[in-house]
Amino acid sequence: MNSNPETASRLIYLIGGDAEEAGSLSAQLGHFGYTLRGFAGLGEAREAIRDEPPTALLMDMAFPGTGDGAGAEALEELHASISSRFPVLFISAIDDLPTRLLAVRVGGAGFSPKPVDVPQLVDVLDQLTGLRQPAPERILIVDDDRIQANLNAVHLRRRGMEVKVITDPLTTIEALSDFQPELVLLDMYMPTCTGMELASVIRQIEAFVSLPIVYLSAETDRDKQLAAVGLGGDDFLVKPIKPEHLISAVLSRTERYRKLRSVMMRDGLTGLFNHSTITDRLEQELARARRQSSPLSVVMLDIDHFKRVNDTYGHPVGDRVIKSLARLLTQRLRLTDIVGRYGGEEFLVILPDTAAEQALPLVDKLREAFSNLIQLAGPTRFSTTCSAGIANYPAWSDPAALKEAADQALYQAKRGGRNRVVAATTPES
Ligand code: GH3
Ligand code: MG
Ligand code: MG
Repeated sequence: MNSNPETASRLIYLIGGDAEEAGSLSAQLGHFGYTLRGFAGLGEAREAIRDEPPTALLMDMAFPGTGDGAGAEALEELHASISSRFPVLFISAIDDLPTRLLAVRVGGAGFSPKPVDVPQLVDVLDQLTGLRQPAPERILIVDDDRIQANLNAVHLRRRGMEVKVITDPLTTIEALSDFQPELVLLDMYMPTCTGMELASVIRQIEAFVSLPIVYLSAETDRDKQLAAVGLGGDDFLVKPIKPEHLISAVLSRTERYRKLRSVMMRDGLTGLFNHSTITDRLEQELARARRQSSPLSVVMLDIDHFKRVNDTYGHPVGDRVIKSLARLLTQRLRLTDIVGRYGGEEFLVILPDTAAEQALPLVDKLREAFSNLIQLAGPTRFSTTCSAGIANYPAWSDPAALKEAADQALYQAKRGGRNRVVAATTPES
């Protein structure tokens, strides 16, 4: 079900560690879309690395038969002899400062004490291998001077940003809704209205209260600049501006805006959309599905007997279980799928363009993968299961009804014995 093309090349090499360990790690990483190949020693690995460089290398700090730290020495040798570059992460039976220092000194990008906390390792791997690359910044330029606007757009696009230019300020609100920019570059003087007037209007719309607005104008009068910033702008850049300055001003503002929005929209524990955001997204996606006459599936997912996990292993372990399911969902689903933490151990997933028949096997694979995850509570290993209910558009056509139907299906899955997925049957069938 991995329709995310980026996952095709997630190849990890493991050097050292015993076979049993490698097998277990391989199975665990497999649930997160990584393929692990184990090597007993450096010799074989070197050849494999030359033939097919991995996305990342995991190295046990102890090779069989040697003392700890041998992995680090081996790595130095490896780096000296191989030119291809990939991040190296260490795993180690010993977790103390000297060992960690050693790992850092030879260029280790990560360190996991044994037993390896797989979801955490996956997080690091995702970051290192660029799978969590942020989406391009979306910038809206409003300037009646098309040549000037396009020139700035070129500079920003060269830095990977997505830029929309409008020369008629009266189309600004429409552009804000359609394009959803993360920053507006606003000219001060335009024929139909001034930048200040436009900024004031934008600020009166609740959805855009915190949207960064940066003036870009030839105005050099400091009083006028300050007045403009006072009217809802965030910054004032003077034309002509060096491209590097424009880029850094834009990047720093969009970065802060993203952080702010992330705090507002996301759940702190899992990083998934929070309850209110996922609820909003369901409405938006349903409206889109209706417009495009495409199907959509909604999944309610709940961890089974989760109270027992908390009672047996404690709340922090329970938190980790929640996080592991969150990661599994974001990793195994498509980039276009939308995942939210609906409540404590309950998740809501929106699958656009997905009919009920497609959703069922897909969600069932997720369920199975979750049940195969090994959870750690100190030295104890355990696993848990989850149940899910699915409802689809067009069988249900408003957000509340969809959620209710998915909830009912989830309830059936629970009553049917848990660790299963139930698709709601349409009202008329
Ligand atoms: P069922 O299979 O019917 O879903 O049983 P359950 O035990 O999972 O369901 P129940 O709703 O009775 O219990 C859910 C528990 O989840 C209760 C609550 O303490 C716990 N919980 C909710 N949010 C969190 C959280 O953020 N972290 C942890 N560790 N536990 C949480
Ligand atoms: Mg539960
Ligand atoms: Mg519950």
